[in-house]
Amino acid sequence: MVVSDSIQILEELKARALVCTQCRLAETRTQVVFGVGDPKARLMFVGEAPGQNEDLQGEPFVGAAGKLLDTLLGEIGMERSEVYIANVLKCRPPGNRDPRPDEIDSCKGYLREQIRLIAPEVVMTLGNFATKLLLNTETGITRLRGRPHHWWLGALLIPTFHPAAALRGGDRVTDQMREDFAVVHSILAAPVEPGQQAAPEIDLRIGDEGVVHTVELMGQLFSAQTRA
Ligand code: URA
Repeated sequence: MVVSDSIQILEELKARALVCTQCRLAETRTQVVFGVGDPKARLMFVGEAPGQNEDLQGEPFVGAAGKLLDTLLGEIGMERSEVYIANVLKCRPPGNRDPRPDEIDSCKGYLREQIRLIAPEVVMTLGNFATKLLLNTETGITRLRGRPHHWWLGALLIPTFHPAAALRGGDRVTDQMREDFAVVHSILAAPVEPGQQAAPEIDLRIGDEGVVHTVELMGQLFSAQTRA
């Protein structure tokens, strides 16, 4: 797809999302939080759902968790404007409760299209909700974090903790996120052949088990059962 076409289609998708009434969250939201950043970013983050600040401002990760995300990005020499940030849910669940399976089902098409149109080389999932949805797994984030998974459309997916978990969990969790961001940095810093996505020669054998985890998702992306 021509880049200008994908940017235009992303804008059209955003316009549709901004008036979406597919689930009950439309009744309680202030603003739809579609996503923000470079529509051709090499790195895309996927969080859980907007919180209070995001609901008010219409932008993902603008509260304390977002500040930590910006800091960790800065430590690998990147800034928010260079990446794309989105959430599994585009509308805030009241009181920041967990997303419900039917809400995820209603919303996941937006995220799928965002990923397809942006076509990032690396997708970093933040926390359990995004990781379980995008990897079609019930395995928890503590076991999955920091390991690159060969994923949809040739991208690598690297799960890490949600920044809010690091704010609660202190230095240990933040340091683990830092390690995971370093993995992202090493992947993005590796030379990429024209027309290729993640460079094949880079050493992906990172993580406790020293293996690359590959998931077969093509036909079933986002068809995963979410937790009740
Ligand atoms: N937490 C998320 O998962 N997303 C946001 O946008 C803000 C907080």
